[in-house]
Amino acid sequence: MKVEAVHTHILDHVLDTTFESASMHFARRQHCLVEIVCDDGTIGWGECLGPAKPNAAVVEAYASALVGQDPLQTERIWLDLYNRLRDQGQRGLTVTALSGIDIALWDIKGKRFGVPVSTLLGGRFRDSVRAYATGSFRREGVDRVDDIAKEVGGYRQEGFHAVKIKIGFDVEEDLRVIAAVREAIGPDMRLMIDANHGYDYLEAIELGNRAAPYGVDWFEEPVLPEQIATYRAVRAGQPIPVAGGETWHGRYAMLEPLATRAVDIVQPDICGVGGFTEIRRVTDMAAMHGVRLVPHVWGTAVCLAASLQFMAALPPNPPRRDPIEPILEFDRTENPFRQAVVNTPIEHQGGVVTIPDKPGLGIDINRNALKRFSLKEE
Ligand SMILES: [Mg+2]
Repeated sequence: MKVEAVHTHILDHVLDTTFESASMHFARRQHCLVEIVCDDGTIGWGECLGPAKPNAAVVEAYASALVGQDPLQTERIWLDLYNRLRDQGQRGLTVTALSGIDIALWDIKGKRFGVPVSTLLGGRFRDSVRAYATGSFRREGVDRVDDIAKEVGGYRQEGFHAVKIKIGFDVEEDLRVIAAVREAIGPDMRLMIDANHGYDYLEAIELGNRAAPYGVDWFEEPVLPEQIATYRAVRAGQPIPVAGGETWHGRYAMLEPLATRAVDIVQPDICGVGGFTEIRRVTDMAAMHGVRLVPHVWGTAVCLAASLQFMAALPPNPPRRDPIEPILEFDRTENPFRQAVVNTPIEHQGGVVTIPDKPGLGIDINRNALKRFSLKEE
């Protein structure tokens, strides 16, 4: 079995309504899928976190080294590709692109042996996971407090047990949003807040202290992700557990935050941290340092499927009778190709998502959707 070809697919959709986090403005959705074709006809799919066109360019740069390789040799290929761009790479796009390739290779491996990737990872601890709704971005031309309160009330109606909202814009306005959200979702639904590194240290401390009485499970990316010592200071200076990790790509980027306990909850994204191969190492590192792991998920059904296979095989830590189950990040923002790229959408039922059990990632790609949403260059 050999790799015959590597293709990238850039999917694109111009949003009806633009939205923004504290660090990014979204006028369109773009994601990069990776397709790896083998000489026996087996095809594997992966996805890269982050800007689609640069990711596709790096995947294409890796492609010549991949063609002719045995796709089952995932560890060897990972190291070979990483080494090729190591001196100028190490984290960022070189690792997010490698993540898409690695996921596609594990999809091929699962299909080759006729088992889901979770079996290859050592077996399943669970067949479904509870999902939390991610949304509540800032939209122009509306009252943000009312808009978000209405939105999260809808997630409660749908059966979600938890919701994550976007803050990081302005401490006073963000606190009004948090208060309105808690009012809308009631006392029992869990609430997480994500600043997308929009605050400085002093704002983060103030927000954390004043938001804590509303019952907040975690405070995600309070400050810039490069400032690991500041994460530690935010942990020390306010009572809400601190989360982060979606921008720490590869195990070396994870080392200092985990070893120095800069976060209470680490959030690797399988499409950014280095695919199945690398997220397993990060899982062990987190467990050794007593840091809870809740994966970050932001992309299409390919990313969702890969995350679910990983979560199926994520060992409970500690391994007690009623373990703390991982929860799935479930993006509710506008993205018409998120589920259209697969023939069987990965949807939630009452806030619970079933983990596919077919070989590989357990999904079938819808080529018509790929064509329909493929980026048309102006
Ligand atoms: Mg986030």
